[in-house]
Amino acid sequence: MPPRRRFPATRSAAAAARYAKRRKRRLAAVDNDLTDEQWTALREAWAGCAYCRAADVPLQRDCIQPVSRGGRYTFENVVPACASCNASKHNGEVTTWMRRRKLDERAFLSRHASILAALRPRPKAEEA
Ligand SMILES: [Zn+2]
Repeated sequence: MPPRRRFPATRSAAAAARYAKRRKRRLAAVDNDLTDEQWTALREAWAGCAYCRAADVPLQRDCIQPVSRGGRYTFENVVPACASCNASKHNGEVTTWMRRRKLDERAFLSRHASILAALRPRPKAEEA
């Protein structure tokens, strides 16, 4: 006997396609300037999932401020996240989501700030 579905498969596929289309349009409309070098540096700095600290898992680019809420794929807005955190957070607001998951929001925010400060290229004037 085939497994019962709550909704017909075609309906959820159509909804997913609509969602993907909207997302694509939204992403094209904003500047997403995260470079591969920056992504590598971020992954190395966090050394695991930025939210739950899971290490040795595949990491995905997660927008702290979700794309649907105006976030962009930029150096300041992207952190590495495990598939579980990424899927769970989805379009949620990061602090609300972290509190709900009982994750250390304060530690995340301060670590994020210090990683950005460490990775951000220094202006030339400061080196002189
Ligand atoms: Zn995680």
